[in-house]
Amino acid sequence: MSLHENLKLRHAVRFRQLQVLRTETLTPHMRRIVVGGEELDGFHSAAPDDHVKLFFPNAEGRIVTPEMGPDGPRYPQGVQPSPARDYTPRVHDAERSELTLDFVLHGDGVASAWAAAAQPGDTLVVGGPRASFVVADDYDTLAMFGDETALPAIARWLEELDPMVQARAFIEIADAGERQPLPPAPGVEVTWLERNGTDAATSTLLEDALRDFAAPLGETFYWIACESRRARTLRKLLEERPEVDSDSIRATGYWKAGPEG
Ligand SMILES: Cc1cc2nc3c(=O)[nH]c(=O)nc-3n(C[C@H](O)[C@H](O)[C@H](O)COP(=O)(O)OP(=O)(O)OC[C@H]3O[C@@H](n4cnc5c(N)ncnc54)[C@H](O)[C@@H]3O)c2cc1C
Repeated sequence: MSLHENLKLRHAVRFRQLQVLRTETLTPHMRRIVVGGEELDGFHSAAPDDHVKLFFPNAEGRIVTPEMGPDGPRYPQGVQPSPARDYTPRVHDAERSELTLDFVLHGDGVASAWAAAAQPGDTLVVGGPRASFVVADDYDTLAMFGDETALPAIARWLEELDPMVQARAFIEIADAGERQPLPPAPGVEVTWLERNGTDAATSTLLEDALRDFAAPLGETFYWIACESRRARTLRKLLEERPEVDSDSIRATGYWKAGPEG
């Protein structure tokens, strides 16, 4: 059994109505949206793999959020809920009252379309984070395997990394144009895996990298985030390794391919 104490923290949920302050094209398929406003006061994100729930306008053009009850979020009868999607709080600057979100423009979806068209002054409602998973600080290595949707979290992991911990990051992207500068640090090795035309749902670059991966000496925490089926496959590959404790794996499906994927 693992001796490391990974913590799951719960937070009271608040919904914040924020405005787009500015946007930035990071790569051809990644757009940065910085939001802010008075309602950001008190926002806190404790861990790099936190997520917030973003609420987008419904078909009537209104943003409708749920009420939080003892059984979780509920919508009152008769209202049309807003589409909601999970995103990583990439940077929170409390002093400037700004929250940065990085969106993959994958071309087909409410969130992707909203981000592609977002302009200063647009409204976005941000809920949460509802929980934080805080990885114990006594691992020797953090090994991360993720696609572009995981890139905001991986970048945050690397920025917030304890200098005593070494990191290995395998990041699958569409092509070389999607590479982003990441914080250079001793003990950090980043490997870009470029699909160059293969579909993100059926690529096996992360799986191949994990099969070939030999953890350095010491104890390793494994963090995985990509398409759901692939995240399950990656977890299984790790579980087949007798030296890997299941408590030292966090594998999350960040998006779900359609039936054709
Ligand atoms: C904890 C967590 C954190 C996340 N953080 C981020 C983040 O910081 N940045 C980010 O960009 N994404 C992030 N994601 C992923 C994001 O929530 C999903 O990609 C989401 O489905 C996008 O919503 P959409 O409305 O654009 O598309 P949807 O309406 O959900 O899907 C429409 C179609 O697009 C496909 N699709 C969805 N996402 C992708 C994709 N990335 N590539 C290819 N096809 C896709 C679906 O299979 C579907 O066919 C995160 C997810 C989780 C669970």
